[in-house]
Amino acid sequence: MRAPEPCRASEHMSQHTPQQQLFEKSPVWEEDDQHSAVVASVVLAGRVDRPLDYVVPEKLAGQVEPGKRLRVPLGRRNQPTVGYCVAVATRDLPGTGLKSVLSVEDERPLLSPTMLELTSWMSERWMCRHGEVLEAVLPAGVREAAGRRQQPHLMPAPEAPASDEARPRLTPSQVKVLTAATEPLTASELADRSGASRAVITRMLNRGLLVEVEAPSAPTAKAADDTPPPLSNAQAAALAPICEAMREGRHETVVLFGVTGSGKTEVYLQAVEETLRYGKQAIVLVPEISLTPQTCSRFRRRFGRVAVLHSHLTPAERHREWRAIAAGEVGVVVGARSAVFAPTPRLGLLVIDEEHETSFKQGTAPRYHARDVAEWRCRRESIPLVLGSATPALETFQKCLTGEWRMAELPERVGGTHLPGVLTVDLRDGPPRRAGGLSSRLEAGIRWALNAEGQVILLLNRRGFATHVQCHACGHSVTCPQCDLSLTLHQPGSRGICHGCGRVIKVRPTCSECGTTGLSIRGSGTQRLEDNVARTFPEARVARMDADTMRRRGSHEATLDAFRRGDIDILVGTQMIAKGLDFPSVMLVGVVYADAALHLPDFRAAERTCQLITQVAGRSGRGPKGGRVVVQTATPDHPAIRAAAVHDYNAFVRHELPIREALGYPPFGQVVRFVVRSRSETAAREWAEHLAGRLRQQITSGETNSTGVRVLGPAPAPIERLRDAWRWHLQIQGPDGGLLRELVRRAIDGLRVPDSVAWIVDVDPVEML
Ligand code: ADP
Ligand code: ZN
Repeated sequence: MRAPEPCRASEHMSQHTPQQQLFEKSPVWEEDDQHSAVVASVVLAGRVDRPLDYVVPEKLAGQVEPGKRLRVPLGRRNQPTVGYCVAVATRDLPGTGLKSVLSVEDERPLLSPTMLELTSWMSERWMCRHGEVLEAVLPAGVREAAGRRQQPHLMPAPEAPASDEARPRLTPSQVKVLTAATEPLTASELADRSGASRAVITRMLNRGLLVEVEAPSAPTAKAADDTPPPLSNAQAAALAPICEAMREGRHETVVLFGVTGSGKTEVYLQAVEETLRYGKQAIVLVPEISLTPQTCSRFRRRFGRVAVLHSHLTPAERHREWRAIAAGEVGVVVGARSAVFAPTPRLGLLVIDEEHETSFKQGTAPRYHARDVAEWRCRRESIPLVLGSATPALETFQKCLTGEWRMAELPERVGGTHLPGVLTVDLRDGPPRRAGGLSSRLEAGIRWALNAEGQVILLLNRRGFATHVQCHACGHSVTCPQCDLSLTLHQPGSRGICHGCGRVIKVRPTCSECGTTGLSIRGSGTQRLEDNVARTFPEARVARMDADTMRRRGSHEATLDAFRRGDIDILVGTQMIAKGLDFPSVMLVGVVYADAALHLPDFRAAERTCQLITQVAGRSGRGPKGGRVVVQTATPDHPAIRAAAVHDYNAFVRHELPIREALGYPPFGQVVRFVVRSRSETAAREWAEHLAGRLRQQITSGETNSTGVRVLGPAPAPIERLRDAWRWHLQIQGPDGGLLRELVRRAIDGLRVPDSVAWIVDVDPVEML
């Protein structure tokens, strides 16, 4: 654990009378020893970088513990502020007195010593404030509800009318509330589920229609009703090293490199089963819960009680799950990125499914990657970590090549179905006949699948109707007035929506620059594709899945259920539809424009493209009728697209790794990216230049061995203006991450940032725009 750091000079100096009075009232340690005292190191969320030290008054001595929150006086005015106690030690008092802890906020620690240590490591690793990390690790519901009174749980009163016929005197909202209250829920949960307002619920409580009941400790477990199948040889060979590490109580990272449908999830399930046999707990991370309902339900069927931590949980629900996990009542936790912090007291296994997904990296501070956090936890607990993917990240792949991690391959699909044949359509041979992007080959493929009563998935990774609207006379394109981005046209209503800031602007039929009437619409999005598909195949039932149609809670599940039932023939969507779905009737997958992300200014553009196409192609042909894939591209010879077309991710890796190595990019080096924002273009540029100058100075100063370290930029960011702010960026890269962070720390130490600029540091960035 990081040693408690001395508090800031200003905190020492601001010792005024109230502080001294506290000292005089609690002089116990002075009797034992004039100079030593119990000192708590306290991290304040978001304000001060370092822990501050406070004396623990005798009356609180038995209560102050690392992992609890403490109320402490802050600043000259001794503003009472809540912070996290990260260490307690008996120490000699510095010459001037320290302020004292005012009160203890929690009955029990919110974080174990190991989790505290993890947060301290994270703040170092990703160069972010320790307080920010603590806030990220503890869900808001836990922070708010912990140690406070419990929210009352409500149920229908026994005398409330039970059947609909007996409810004529109730309003429709009241009926909804009674119908939704099938288990004890807090008022906010009940409001959420029933759609009724809190006021309605309060009135029902006052009228005696609802009563307060004892809170349930955890949702009741459903019985597991699924027996594991015998494993294939490849699956058994993959499971063996996981179980062996478990048995021997040592850490090992096992990468399951298996094509889609090769039985990776079954290996996770049996590894989890083994964990439970040892009386331990397992955490399974998935990219996004709402996109992986099948995975979650498989875990539920196999294990009964599973804590599923999804983003739609209310704070109270999340708090309940948190408590159940911390109490060891739940053996299996399934969740997205932040579930890596689940407070399991007896962790025995951590699994990351689709480990290459970028959603495992948090886009806001703290900008951590769940894969690295998972590895830290597993190493610390001496337990196995399992990473699964059909297309492992190159960082992961390289660690297997060097032998640091163990790779287990599942090269074939379960049940002997073959990977679907892929047909590449070269868009340079002539653009698709119709606007909306279907070549005659793709159209024929769709017809083939529909005739065989199969289903179709069409991927286009651009939402909206058209990606830009341009004047055909002067070439002026319609852009967002506060961002450097073309407006995406959404129909109906000719709304131009900025995908940077969300601003909506009515697109007029005349050019604002030259007055010509008749703007042309370029770059089809999913909305236009859906229109076109529905017109081309009027007999087919078409649905669309993208961020625009999936705003409402439950809409993913509803659409996927309809697709599974066969109520949808053609599903059009963005990358959302590429994730782990297993639908045996899908006979055709069409990638409408494979190059959509290929030419972005990001060193991972090729990797992402290859992963996306491979993933979506794997949705086809899982059933007995087989399947096909049609990939439309203007660059059929690009290694990323060629490899995906022959299901040979290895070929892509062999091509890409030497390029990364030559450029010093990950996995052969690390990158720290800075983004500077300002209302003033000059201020943004100047601050970026200043930062770059300080970094270069550090490199050449000779104080560290900076061989191979270089600074790229500054340059305007690819999205140069966003929400009225100018954006400049720069990168420092080099072979050793620890050294990079040290150089950055030295370069920014004591910097006074002008008020006009804001800037972020992103260690291991995955977002380069
Ligand atoms: P992946 O996670 O690699 O996509 P899954 O574990 O989902 O693969 O397996 C694909 C399908 O094969 C699923 O329907 C699963 O139930 C089935 N399956 C997996 N392993 C076996 C096995 N050993 N025997 C029979 N069926 C299996
Ligand atoms: Zn905008």
